[in-house]
Amino acid sequence: MASANNNNASYQCPVCGYDQMRESPDSGNICPCCGIEFDADDLNKTLVQLRGEWIENGFRWFSKGTLSPKDWNPYRQLILAKHGGDLLLNPRFPNDANYRNAVDESFSNIRMAKQLRVLRERHHPPLTQAQVAEKTEMKQSRISELENVDYSSWSVSTLRRFARAFGVRLVFGCAPWERLPLEMAQGLNIESLWVPPFDRNAPFSAPVGNALDQQSPFWKALRSSGQMSNEPFRSGEIGALRERPKPFADGGVFVGMLSRSQPTTETRAKL
Ligand SMILES: [Zn+2]
Repeated sequence: MASANNNNASYQCPVCGYDQMRESPDSGNICPCCGIEFDADDLNKTLVQLRGEWIENGFRWFSKGTLSPKDWNPYRQLILAKHGGDLLLNPRFPNDANYRNAVDESFSNIRMAKQLRVLRERHHPPLTQAQVAEKTEMKQSRISELENVDYSSWSVSTLRRFARAFGVRLVFGCAPWERLPLEMAQGLNIESLWVPPFDRNAPFSAPVGNALDQQSPFWKALRSSGQMSNEPFRSGEIGALRERPKPFADGGVFVGMLSRSQPTTETRAKL
């Protein structure tokens, strides 16, 4: 018997990824989104097969009684539920350009929103939405809206504000479809969403006159492209005068902290 505590519980459908099911995906229950009846429809087919069929048949919202969420997007739902590969493998992908574009656009929107959040939260020190709002001269409610994976109305000028606020580059361009599977596989990891700000970028933080840095792949490539002369660096040129960045407090700082703690040891030795 369901207790009162379970009234607000929600479950995720293992077929379509809808995560607001009122009842668990168990015997006799039906997902209002994909219409799968558990312990019935799934007796002779795997979840992957059922998912593939739902996608191929146009993944329409099933229930007449439970309405779909506002701005419901089955592409986004499947990607967030980590079923993006099923979207790519579906026969609709090669056969339907609208479908293909919707898969790509939904993925890009999710990625952009998640990246804004990662850049804010992994900033040193981490920033609140209010602080980002101040830096970008936008309202906090707007920051919240843009960090939501449902957002899709990106503008280049807005994204530039974020890029400047976080000290990163905004890159835009076209890409081949063959990259999409790998992007979908890796593109939503925090590691791939995080971008270090300017002063954490190796080519611009090298010490003056370091021969090794003159031979670094960054500058070698620029020289061989003709974008830069072959003359040796002059003193004070490039980011050469910049100090190497100090390690972050939550990683690699150990060495720095150790050297700073040495006086303490000496002090103790004197006592
Ligand atoms: Zn479902």
